[in-house]
Amino acid sequence: MFINHEYINEVLEKGKESNREEILKILEKAEELKGLTHIEIAKLLNTEDKDIMQKVFETAGRIKRKIYGKRVVLFAPLYISNYCVNNCTYCGYQCKNKFNRKKLTQDEIRQEVRILEDLGHKRLALEVGEDDYNCPIEYILESIDTIYSTENKNGNIRRINVNIAATTVENYKKLKDKEIGTYILFQETYYKPTYEAVHPDSIKGNYDYHLTAFDRAMEAGIDDVGGGVLFGLSDYKFEVMALMLHNEHLEKEFNVGFHTISVPRLKKAEGMSLDEYPHAISDDDFKKLTAIIRLAVPFTGMILSTRETAEIREELINYGISQLSAGSCTGVGGYKEKEEGKDIGQFQLSDERSPLEIVKSLVGSGFIPSYCTACYRSGRTGDVMMDLAKQGKISTSCTPNALMTLMEYVLDYGDNELKTIGENLVKDEVAFMTDEKHKIFVQDKLEKIIEGKRDFYI
Ligand code: SAM
Repeated sequence: MFINHEYINEVLEKGKESNREEILKILEKAEELKGLTHIEIAKLLNTEDKDIMQKVFETAGRIKRKIYGKRVVLFAPLYISNYCVNNCTYCGYQCKNKFNRKKLTQDEIRQEVRILEDLGHKRLALEVGEDDYNCPIEYILESIDTIYSTENKNGNIRRINVNIAATTVENYKKLKDKEIGTYILFQETYYKPTYEAVHPDSIKGNYDYHLTAFDRAMEAGIDDVGGGVLFGLSDYKFEVMALMLHNEHLEKEFNVGFHTISVPRLKKAEGMSLDEYPHAISDDDFKKLTAIIRLAVPFTGMILSTRETAEIREELINYGISQLSAGSCTGVGGYKEKEEGKDIGQFQLSDERSPLEIVKSLVGSGFIPSYCTACYRSGRTGDVMMDLAKQGKISTSCTPNALMTLMEYVLDYGDNELKTIGENLVKDEVAFMTDEKHKIFVQDKLEKIIEGKRDFYI
């Protein structure tokens, strides 16, 4: 199997030997955007020196700006079923937790989607527990159709990323046919003994089947896959090295690695106590691992959820994170319940701000919140997208789209404060565009958006 535990431990051991000069050279190399070798990553992971760590953050920040510009993509999760046959010890939806399970009817899904659309969302991550009887693939496929076809006056959901349990090539083909965006699946932990211990009496407990899910997804033609680790289950240095090996495996076999990497951190949930998990990660280590992933795989999007506080999220968008969830609920029917003042989720959240508050805060710090979903609808997926990223075209072609979606958001959902700061940011960004062709194109599109014409290609 491609996650060779002995090899990872050996590299991490060797990585303990390093000095300041060596680390500075590694940082210089990272800046060339060509990624890093295993031993270089191991040396960075083993660095404890605060001054050097500051340089790691600065380098990660420069790389982030070079590739992504000021864009930060926003999305929301949508939980439609909490039926689950697994006993993931860390999860509030584990089978042995007794509560009234539910899955949404198509009408209830429409209701949730309308609430999300009223918050300005265009991109969702669809989430379900694993239960082939109560939540079969046919239900998921029907729900995808329902979501895409639910429109409000300002448009509809334009991209659905899907986070469902590891499944068969046949089922992945069905998802592909429904035009999903990214197929997301977290390995939870790459360390096999822990993986097996935290998934007792569970279909999910089959480490090899879970680990090879992306191979099956890619075989089925899904070329955007998003990996991740639930940080806090096992040693984070091992997990980062393993993520890199997984990415390289996909690159070797399918010519494209992870489209995104998510970095969820373990939170308190119903039926578990954080005291049972000795690998809890400090904020400092969490920032460090995020920045190191950015240096190692500069072209891979990185996702941070509302499990983290507003402060950490605002800090980490400077070091590597390119996508944030906003205004999230992790309960089934949670958006309606939230409107009614109740919400029972899968785990605790820390950033409770509304999407509007998040957008204002990003704009206030000079970032461009983006609701753009043009890539996959224009066929820019998999290796096509990676090649564009490697040619440095994300910031030149995605920034104009991001500005257009920001303008749509400002006009459709903004309050007076956002109308002022948002429109000023868009104007300033357009004024500073150096490519005349792009500038004229964006100005023309913006005028149309201001006239009330919505651009469904972004
Ligand atoms: N059932 C699918 C699967 O098995 O992959 C989807 C999983 S769930 C809806 C989404 C993710 O939530 C999980 O992959 C896990 O990483 C995360 N999660 C579960 N419990 C958590 C907790 N206590 N704290 C933080 N994240 C948690």
